[in-house]
Amino acid sequence: MPNIALFGPPGAGKGTQSQKLIQTYQYTAIALGDLLREQVSQQTALGQQINSYISMGKLVPDTLAISIVEAQVIAKKHSNRLLFDGFPRTVRQATALETMLASHQMTIDGVLFLDVPEAELVQRIQGRAKMGGRTDDQDTAKVATRMRIYADETLPVAQYYAQQGKLLKIDGTGLVEQVTKRIFAAVDKLSCADL
Ligand code: ADP
Repeated sequence: MPNIALFGPPGAGKGTQSQKLIQTYQYTAIALGDLLREQVSQQTALGQQINSYISMGKLVPDTLAISIVEAQVIAKKHSNRLLFDGFPRTVRQATALETMLASHQMTIDGVLFLDVPEAELVQRIQGRAKMGGRTDDQDTAKVATRMRIYADETLPVAQYYAQQGKLLKIDGTGLVEQVTKRIFAAVDKLSCADL
């Protein structure tokens, strides 16, 4: 199976769709947002530091994001199907990922770009905020910060993978099941190319 990354703006549905990929294709997921929130909930010194970024809608520093992911890659490198969710989010993270995977004779085979218009993203995040849960969803100014950082720092990652011919754009609008179908079709296509 191909190693893949789920890419897209905040609220695009990466978490939801990665659950589908785990269930159906037995992917081993590395979801940095979840790992960071775990640290925050443990209320360690590191967790408090992480929370100061997340709660402002900012990215945590690259060095921290990269070191957390690297530990996960080492722990999970024997899986023949890794799924990265919410990483890489900067070009520096993307190049670091390439280097760390190469050191274990691995690579990212495809990056699935979940494309959703910004107006719909904001609506979805507001809906998620009403259900409680994440503090970074509650405040519109912070959501706007996340969108701006996405455009400035994360979108260039799409270009990085497009240049390598690895970017697969997926329409992220419509029902969850419709998006899942599109994603599965893309993964099946990648798997065939892999053979
Ligand atoms: P969303 O995709 O909705 O923004 P995530 O759960 O993926 O949600 O991320 C939540 C927060 O965790 C981000 O807003 C950011 O503060 C931090 N974070 C997640 N992934 C990264 C990353 N690759 N680099 C830096 N910070 C990250």
